[in-house]
Amino acid sequence: MPELPEVETVRRGLAPAMEGAVIERADVNRPDLRWPFPAGMAERLTGQRVDRLRRRSKYLLADLQSGESLLIHLGMSGRMLVSGDPLGRFVHEHPAPEKHDHVVLHMANGARITFNDPRRFGAMDLMRTAEAERHKLLALLGPEPLGNTFNEAHLAAALKGRNTPIKAALLDQRIIAGLGNIYVCEALYRGRIHPARKAGRISARRVAALVPIIREVLSEAIDAGGSSLRDFRQADGELGYFQHNFDVYGRENAPCRTPGCTDVIRRIVQSGRSSFYCPTCQR
Ligand SMILES: [Zn+2]
Repeated sequence: MPELPEVETVRRGLAPAMEGAVIERADVNRPDLRWPFPAGMAERLTGQRVDRLRRRSKYLLADLQSGESLLIHLGMSGRMLVSGDPLGRFVHEHPAPEKHDHVVLHMANGARITFNDPRRFGAMDLMRTAEAERHKLLALLGPEPLGNTFNEAHLAAALKGRNTPIKAALLDQRIIAGLGNIYVCEALYRGRIHPARKAGRISARRVAALVPIIREVLSEAIDAGGSSLRDFRQADGELGYFQHNFDVYGRENAPCRTPGCTDVIRRIVQSGRSSFYCPTCQR
């Protein structure tokens, strides 16, 4: 499931093909994904210049000349492919249409953007750009972890008095937008905090330390995604999925990487999701 760094990587991969470019034609091949598409979606996209492609949490927002924004959510299995990109380093031939190509944007610059999603948990919607922050998917989101409003004071206030495990608190999108299971596990490992520790009972010093750690974990992953965009593996034009080396996520029973630690990484299930951590390093 794509998390914030993957979505940011998709954004960076799409931006050269979309920003400033006109959508010449939009093929909408089915009525819905997770939810029905907005009425007249193809017509509302056709002829529109994309002024800006931005990201909020795990959502992409393409601001159109018309004053509307196209929201794109990759869901569980959504993939974006860019082909015929005249500005990219690789020129990908347009692929043959595939079964789950639900929406295809034909850009006037020759690029083609394909949204493919076999499981259809993804979503697309249109809204007035000026009202985007009030959209039902965006309205309750907390601050962006890489933005200025996510800081020590915000995190301390959000965790104060909470009896929930820190893992659950950091996954709460109202506290921080866009953090998912993988990067919460990694951040707690670097912060040496046990995932089951009660959020309200972590010292102010350790909470404060989490802020730069969360930024660092995400920034490193975004950098890895950026490398993948320049990498030969992306030569098929698929954006956003890249190899990344995690310290704890997916490493159950593997040796802890903290110098001097002889323990192995353990996995517990919290709220139905796996948490990976080192019992010696994380308290
Ligand atoms: Zn350890």
